[in-house]
Amino acid sequence: MESSVTELKGIGAKTEKLLNRIGVYTIKDILLYFPRDYIRYKAPVPPGEVTAEGVYAVTARVAGMPLLKRAGGMELVQAKAADETGALECVWFRAPYVRSLLKAGQAYIFYGKVKQKGRGFCMEQPEIFTPAKYMEKQKTLQPVYARTEGLSNSALVKAIRQALDKIPLVYEFLPEPIRIKEGICEYNFALRQIHFPDSIENLAIARRRLVYDEFFIFILNVQRQKEKRTKIANNFPILNETVIPYILSHLPYQLTVAQKKSLDEVICDLKKDTAMQRLIQGDVGSGKTVVAFLCMALMGENGYQSALMAPTEVLARQHYETFVKMCVDFKLERKVVLLTGSLTARERRRAYEDMQIYPDAMVIGTQALIQEKAVFSNLALVVTDEQHRFGVRQRETLADKGRFPHILVMSATPIPRTLAIIIYGDMDISVIDETPAKRLPNKNCVVGTSYRRTAFEFIRKEVKKGHQAYVICPLVEKSEELEAENVTDYTARLEEYYGQDVRVCCLNGKMKPLEKNRIMEEFAGGNIDVLVSTTVVEVGVNVPNATVMMIENAERFGLAQLHQLRGRVGRGDAQSYCIMVDHANSKGSKQRLEILNHSNDGFFIAGEDLKLRGPGDFFGIRQSGDLAFTLADVYQDADVLKRAAEDVAWLLEEDPELIKEENRGLSAVVCRQEGEGMSL
Ligand code: ADP
Ligand code: MG
Repeated sequence: MESSVTELKGIGAKTEKLLNRIGVYTIKDILLYFPRDYIRYKAPVPPGEVTAEGVYAVTARVAGMPLLKRAGGMELVQAKAADETGALECVWFRAPYVRSLLKAGQAYIFYGKVKQKGRGFCMEQPEIFTPAKYMEKQKTLQPVYARTEGLSNSALVKAIRQALDKIPLVYEFLPEPIRIKEGICEYNFALRQIHFPDSIENLAIARRRLVYDEFFIFILNVQRQKEKRTKIANNFPILNETVIPYILSHLPYQLTVAQKKSLDEVICDLKKDTAMQRLIQGDVGSGKTVVAFLCMALMGENGYQSALMAPTEVLARQHYETFVKMCVDFKLERKVVLLTGSLTARERRRAYEDMQIYPDAMVIGTQALIQEKAVFSNLALVVTDEQHRFGVRQRETLADKGRFPHILVMSATPIPRTLAIIIYGDMDISVIDETPAKRLPNKNCVVGTSYRRTAFEFIRKEVKKGHQAYVICPLVEKSEELEAENVTDYTARLEEYYGQDVRVCCLNGKMKPLEKNRIMEEFAGGNIDVLVSTTVVEVGVNVPNATVMMIENAERFGLAQLHQLRGRVGRGDAQSYCIMVDHANSKGSKQRLEILNHSNDGFFIAGEDLKLRGPGDFFGIRQSGDLAFTLADVYQDADVLKRAAEDVAWLLEEDPELIKEENRGLSAVVCRQEGEGMSL
């Protein structure tokens, strides 16, 4: 499993490089590279229905004897597939044996690519099936993998088939009693069927097993982590807390009741005998940042350091600016340090120094905070923003940088409380379930592409009023595979459309961090009017002056994601708008988008989306894709999640240390995962 993919036949240096690009290095990696979708063999049609080039399954009889011909030094077999609707020519190159496979007058299914030939059509190199055999085939599903340029689906299929045949049976790590109780299939079966399902039923069975595994291992890790942490003493006594009322009286607004309640819960935790482990869950725009600021300021007042980790460079910088500004506004003399990957060597050295010199600094950054060289001198509180983007491990690594600091995590993913308790099983939970009162709710609309001009003119008007807009496209650049808007072409189009009137700029995830920062800062500073962006702005970005969010190919995004995107506007006092452009214009997409159109409540939206999807509909857009499970979806697989949680509880009751013989395999998997870093 751990050997390189190059051990597989047909994978040389070139293919290896391409595979590396999609994160595949070992045989195990390629086996765990699950299909993105599946297709079926097509329903057969009579020859008369072949009216354009494309892939067909044609059902017909062979008219007369197949002919063996010679053209340009090459042997080819030619046959006519015909019925009363018409005839289709079929050819096979360099395959004289085909003649003996075909019997004149017999019915077959010919499956292959049809090309135009003169005024008629010709199917090249078709596969030949008996009708019965083809019916069998039609039950199976062909995997479609996410690819990178230069890597074909068939190359992946070949490699994975080989890997499946080559590897010895994988050890079954799930304890037998659990497997039997849950009625779930064996791992080997699941692995084979997820790639090459014999039927849709088997695919569902396979998927259920793999989803169960993901949840089970995840919860087991969380529970074991919890065991480790519950007995940790609070090393950081709070002696002063004047800074809280002081800041509150200087804030330009009043905290909402929910913000106040969460803040009180945190402060109460900080005064306990044991270290805090708390999650603040609050919808987009509910005002989590200021709560984090207050907690960190309190640590500062008591002479301790605190750290805030954000998932993106853009967000970390924005938090930094906000914190610095608040310190200035409130005349708080506190060092705020920024530590991200894009700092120059000199800036970074400076940040490291500051972390040593100031025992009460507030340190803000990205994952750069958990790098080895980042050493805190007095870390007492660790805050992670947009927790779902990080792994449990990363949170712990940052925590390891102090002497058992308090942990506060913030998330906007709207998970129902019952599920949150399982997923964040090692934490207490606070909920901010209201948004600041003065704010006007967003106005939403779902439109077709013909509405675009109107939208552009609407944006122009908003810009004239001094506001700004986002336009979101799914792709960075033109793609051969996906029919969807891309930011590169869209920016050019808008630049041409607006001319000098409106300043348009492009932002995407492929840009260098420094470039992204610069653009985000320009946008925040009001030097860009319209930001054409991929979903990199989805997480946490706060530009209150932006009032329009226009989303192209809205049908391609999950509702939760759309809700997050929409949360980028409506953050100031002005009325804000969200324009969702639906390219599919199908009944399904309309129905889904209507949910967003009518509600601004994240919890409600997630619940409704689930209701719309049937239980077998597991290849739709994943709602909680950002929760970093590979296959599992917290909403859709909620029942599996609950069962896995019960089973973990049972297991840990029976064998807390996982030392019993039947739990050995599991123990090995858990230990390995702990090493690799489980992600949440
Ligand atoms: P999120 O919870 O999505 O992280 P933020 O913390 O970024 O939200 O807050 C969004 C905006 O709301 C910010 O501009 C912030 O200053 C403002 N804000 C936060 N709390 C309040 C409040 N109680 N009243 C008015 N505005 C607030
Ligand atoms: Mg936020």
